[in-house]
Amino acid sequence: MTEQDINAGGRVAIVGGGLAGSLLALSLARQGVGVDVYERRPDPRVGLSEGGRSINLGLSKRGIQALTEVGLIDQVMPLSVVMGGRVIHAPDGSTRFQPYGKDRGEVLHSIDRNELNRLLLDHAQRHPQVRLHFNHRLERIDKARRELEFDHDGEKVRAQPAWVVGADGAFSRARQEMQRGERADYHQEYLEWGYKELSLAALPGGGSQIELEALHVWPRVHCFFVSHPNRDGSHTLTLFLPHEGPDSFATTRTPDEVRALFNKYFPDLIPLLPNLVDDWVSHPTGSLITTRTAPWSMDEWIVLVGDACHAVYPFYGQGMNSAFEDCSALMAAFAAHPRDRRAAFIAYEQSRRPHTDTLAELSKANFIELKQKVQSFWFLARKRVDAA
Ligand code: FAD
Repeated sequence: MTEQDINAGGRVAIVGGGLAGSLLALSLARQGVGVDVYERRPDPRVGLSEGGRSINLGLSKRGIQALTEVGLIDQVMPLSVVMGGRVIHAPDGSTRFQPYGKDRGEVLHSIDRNELNRLLLDHAQRHPQVRLHFNHRLERIDKARRELEFDHDGEKVRAQPAWVVGADGAFSRARQEMQRGERADYHQEYLEWGYKELSLAALPGGGSQIELEALHVWPRVHCFFVSHPNRDGSHTLTLFLPHEGPDSFATTRTPDEVRALFNKYFPDLIPLLPNLVDDWVSHPTGSLITTRTAPWSMDEWIVLVGDACHAVYPFYGQGMNSAFEDCSALMAAFAAHPRDRRAAFIAYEQSRRPHTDTLAELSKANFIELKQKVQSFWFLARKRVDAA
């Protein structure tokens, strides 16, 4: 063992116990590394999960590969719903199914974010060398002392880990602190559109009100809905809508304004969403950002993974998949540089950043393409209605 082995000099601190943080805790624990996970939220396995925040996600090949590597795929798959294609809902209420290529094994899997996170935390915690610290918010990093400072219910908690992983998401405090006063690039773009999640309930006796095993899209010129299925037959709908301007989140606040928006763009959804107004008011409006940054690490002491180093717009459905792929790539870099953590961090970044930069561009392009396709689809639909 040398100063720079992954398990030399004490325990590793992972800041953020979300998707990437919990998967990496499990991966490191499988290598015998002692891990402390510090998560600002309460334990998601206790009490009610947080509503209205990107409840389910599309899991695809890259994410599946990372989950396979930690031996969890057989536990994950039964939690997911296969999506064999997408159903397009036209403004006149008609639908069209576009298959992905199920015969060639080309499907997506819809999975509940919280369920997946709980599973990863459970499996990480089965390793006695993993400790989970909830309600611990990273506040500050003293780089000279190599010390982390957390807020734990109003009290300051300090830790001096052997090394650190910043897995604390798109607005990463670990990244900010790591780059403070250093020569570092950081670029952030906000999309002028936001999102809100609503729930389409299952039928009273079970089963789904719309095709279960599909991604559903309600494309409109001005806005669109995407929905992912849940195992109980319900669907999680995500509305993408401009923040400002006519027919925006800013102008859709009162019950009448909500009903007017849906009457105008999504009349077919109104009978399916009896709690529309209550859900609209109680669910937060989310913002979407793209970030790019460099470097992803400092010395042999701290490294970033997931949204902390590359948040992308969700229109390509690859943010989580790519965060999981980071974890695989980091573990592969440790295997390639077993005695040199700094070299492993650099190799990891070099192997990943070109791909995540491309993903950021693809995610942006897909939004534009979606808007253009939306338009052509709208005109096609209108033509059909006019011709009828
Ligand atoms: P997160 O999941 O955000 O986890 C970060 C964790 O760090 C959180 O638990 C947070 O509480 C914690 N944290 C934050 N700050 C601190 C702090 N200071 N101290 C301690 N802890 C902290 N991806 C897909 O692959 N497929 C999809 O279909 C998909 N759909 C999406 C739809 C929407 C609307 C959105 C917004 C995103 C979507 N994504 C999708 C992207 C996906 O959600 C993210 O890429 C993924 O969650 C990144 O994982 P992460 O662990 O890096 O970050």
